[in-house]
Amino acid sequence: MTETLATRLDAALPQHQCQRCGYDDCRSYAEAIAAGKADINRCSPGGELVIESLAELAGRALRPLAADVEPFPMDQVARIDPATCIGCTKCLPPCPVDAIVGAPKYLHEVMEVACTGCGLCIPACPVDCISLVAVEDEAAAARRMNPPTARTGLERARLMHRGGELRERYRRHEARRATSQRRRKRELDTGDADDLDARRAEIAAAVERVRARRAERARQR
Ligand code: SF4
Ligand code: SF4
Ligand code: SF4
Repeated sequence: MTETLATRLDAALPQHQCQRCGYDDCRSYAEAIAAGKADINRCSPGGELVIESLAELAGRALRPLAADVEPFPMDQVARIDPATCIGCTKCLPPCPVDAIVGAPKYLHEVMEVACTGCGLCIPACPVDCISLVAVEDEAAAARRMNPPTARTGLERARLMHRGGELRERYRRHEARRATSQRRRKRELDTGDADDLDARRAEIAAAVERVRARRAERARQR
């Protein structure tokens, strides 16, 4: 099978799937370059190394990183505050590299070695318990020094293969969020907001009960 230009360009990208380039994932950006719709200088985690590779593959002139691209935090990683996490699972779908582990109602945790520090999970947390902190894991730190090449072949293959699947999961999550926002607006428009507020209060009370039980268990240990 002939390898397409988009596939070769995709293989040269860091596979962070971080959206800094303005596209949903690395593959979408690679396809846009191959179709002549995007410039080669939009991947901030890749920096100059990736720009050079893309210029060579696409047969274009070298350019500095585009001024409108948000910088990437090379020395940071996400951390979840264990005292605040309520185990709601809302941070799982936005993570494009599957770096968060957890189950409903249990404390979630970030696998530092897999986390790129993209920050896409932060806005999803309803209790603001995710923050970016300085990276401690040596392997993760090394990857950040040279992101386009530091992933192992197996790791890159997994991310390139799973990228579409994970983005699809994220798109479904966003669609559910949009539906619930529309429902909220309808309820406000039709005067059913009191019911909704009552349900929210019940949920908040349930969350408080879970926290209190967890604190009690921790005291008994
Ligand atoms: S790693 Fe680069 S190409 Fe991939 S999504 Fe992030 S900015 Fe875009
Ligand atoms: S855990 Fe958060 S910061 Fe880390 S890769 Fe996933 S979305 Fe990005
Ligand atoms: S979104 Fe926040 S509270 Fe919910 S599981 Fe993730 S870290 Fe915990």
